[in-house]
Amino acid sequence: MIYFQSLTQQDLASLLRPLSRVQSKARISTEELEHKLTRQARYRAKQIFHWVYQRFQTDWDQMTDLSQDLRAWLKAHIQIFRLNSLQSHQALDGTHKFLWSLEDSKTIESVIIPAALREKNAQESSKAFSEEGAFFSGRVVSETMDSDHWSRLTACISSQVGCAMACKFCLTGVQGLDRHLAIHEIVTQVYELRRVAPITNIVFMGMGEPLHNFENVVKACQILLDQDGLAFSKRKVTVSTSGLVPAIEELGRRIDVSLAISLNATTDEQRSRIMPVNRRWNIEELLRACRNYPLGSHRRITFEYVLLKGMNDSLEDAERLVHLVRGIPSKINLIPFNEHSGSDFRRPQDSVIRSFQRYLLDHHLTATVRISRGRDILAACGQLRSILGTARGSERHQEWGQGLTRQ
Ligand code: SAH
Ligand code: SF4
Repeated sequence: MIYFQSLTQQDLASLLRPLSRVQSKARISTEELEHKLTRQARYRAKQIFHWVYQRFQTDWDQMTDLSQDLRAWLKAHIQIFRLNSLQSHQALDGTHKFLWSLEDSKTIESVIIPAALREKNAQESSKAFSEEGAFFSGRVVSETMDSDHWSRLTACISSQVGCAMACKFCLTGVQGLDRHLAIHEIVTQVYELRRVAPITNIVFMGMGEPLHNFENVVKACQILLDQDGLAFSKRKVTVSTSGLVPAIEELGRRIDVSLAISLNATTDEQRSRIMPVNRRWNIEELLRACRNYPLGSHRRITFEYVLLKGMNDSLEDAERLVHLVRGIPSKINLIPFNEHSGSDFRRPQDSVIRSFQRYLLDHHLTATVRISRGRDILAACGQLRSILGTARGSERHQEWGQGLTRQ
């Protein structure tokens, strides 16, 4: 059985090509026949993409404009994959987190993050001090996920079970890599979320290092961008990486998506301490790859910067950051550290976060602060999975999680 969500439209057309038939009374040349058969297969593939990704039909028999023969063939050969939701939790700020169980019983997470409407943003900006952190009243998905309530619904998806990059502040990093996700497992996270909410943006900021699972992530992006499928715009699909330099270069050559870099430090010494990947490709090499990354019109690279108390949150860091990103069309996303039991780092005080942001703004950078969304449902990378005891090495996180959920 082939999983439907692992196929691009082109792949599907190639599979359907031998099934194509042309009835022609007139004699036609072999070339013309070939052309007609290919065109027919492409047309069928497009129809099927519409059925599955735009009309959310999962039963081949209901695809009434396909021939009986074709439906029978699809039933026998191609399976529309579904993810089984083990848990889903909604936080008071509207963030909705899903824990999925895979066929081998491993678990992954995806999160829907709503961004409130601009007006509400403005009202709440003093409280949240960033556009990312605007308040959003939480109810169940079906009630809140209508466009009167939000300006953007972002699906944050996973690319691996765990992660091999071992960043010191990250719970997924502490857990280690279990396995890569297959193409259909990546695409289906979005497919399932899209079934319950009109997702507008996708970020690969869940579990895993997307560029470590390069081929599957590239193909998943191609499928997500297909205008006959889920039809995301390339500007609204963002791949976030800890800095695998050759893969960043290759990504730029292979596909047009937005890029986010987890910079998180301003000197090599500091960065190597918290992100082992920096020992392989240092800040200079990473930023060179960013400068060379092909940006389309209106596009900027996002630099994520996790603020760790006493580690990378000084004004000297802010000053170095300004110098580092100079000349790169970019925006800085400051993420106050989300504390967890797998790490001794602490979140800086709000006043420190504000001063850091102020410094960047005063030096003409775009800098937002991402308020940790969905704290009450443990929406940070790898946390839900850990609390529920489905991750490796999760025993020591459980007690802590119980404490938090009681709060
Ligand atoms: N592996 C990719 C994408 C997943 S991590 C990457 O590293 O970019 C997504 C983001 O979450 C990264 O910017 C990472 O720095 C941040 N992050 C990880 N653990 C965090 C924590 N405990 N608190 C705040 N941000 C965290
Ligand atoms: Fe992996 Fe990203 Fe976590 Fe680093 S921050 S361990 S790259 S998921």
